Amino acid sequence: MKKHYHQPMSANQMAKFGGPTTFMRLPALETPEGLDVGIVGVPLDTASSYRVGSRFGPRAIRAESTPIRPYNLATRLSPFDHLAVADLGDAPINPYNPFASIDSIEGFFDHILAAGCRPLALGGEHTVTLPILRAIQKKHGPVALVHVDAHADVNDTMLGEKVAHGTPFRRAFEENLLLPERVVQIGLRATGYSAEEFDWSRKAGFRVVQAEECWHRSLAPLMDEVRERMGSAPVYVSFDIDALDPAFAPGTGTPEIGGLTTIQGIEIMRGCRGLNIVGGDVVEVSPPYDIQSITATTAANLAFELLCSFVDGGVR
Ligand code: MN
Ligand code: MN
Repeated sequence: MKKHYHQPMSANQMAKFGGPTTFMRLPALETPEGLDVGIVGVPLDTASSYRVGSRFGPRAIRAESTPIRPYNLATRLSPFDHLAVADLGDAPINPYNPFASIDSIEGFFDHILAAGCRPLALGGEHTVTLPILRAIQKKHGPVALVHVDAHADVNDTMLGEKVAHGTPFRRAFEENLLLPERVVQIGLRATGYSAEEFDWSRKAGFRVVQAEECWHRSLAPLMDEVRERMGSAPVYVSFDIDALDPAFAPGTGTPEIGGLTTIQGIEIMRGCRGLNIVGGDVVEVSPPYDIQSITATTAANLAFELLCSFVDGGVR
């Protein structure tokens, strides 16, 4: 199939507040055939531990993405000139059954990956990363992971359940979806029930970068280390918006103070450039708790920055 480099609708063609509410007003397509990257919403929020509402995340992120322009003036990257990108709509979920939902999400991503298209997902809660990683594993084998979050998300169970938004990376480890020596968790902080919450990750071989290690500094040197650790392995990037401080991203389900800045979030996304990125997500945006769409705006721009970092990578 001939590749078509879709461009986002320009504000010189249609005012920013008009037109379709797809991601950056890209075409809405039903099929991933011929695409390099597909934007996918995953509006699941029924396995969250505290505040819900991230079911409205994909819609809010898309709405706040419409003013983003296609050329990145800082990095000089214009991803739509190098990648065929479109908005593939939302993965089907069942709000009454998170277990059935993770199966239907996996099937949706299987279909995208089978077409040679790399997924960039908009959550939804962090549970959605587990079925995405299951689909990725079938295509690429175990992957390296850049996981940005206030929380490690490596609980064994939550109220006895194996599938919840605080367990995806424990399951992913157990199911051999990850290359443990090539997993980096950035931004972890706050309170828990025991030291084991972060030490489990360390024992698994993950590099844990607690938020305190990020305070008061640029994360560009850290990302140099991350790229070295990842090498040429296929990499998945998962960005939980609660990694950022609630001052920068209040609209989320489980806020923790003392978090990363928006600037550090941008440094992480830009620092992923050159990695062999096979997919990624931005999750846990909960619009009912947002203020003036700060969080959705931030998530939309971070997703764009990550898309820019897809330009050089990818297993074709
Ligand atoms: Mn998380
Ligand atoms: Mn989190």
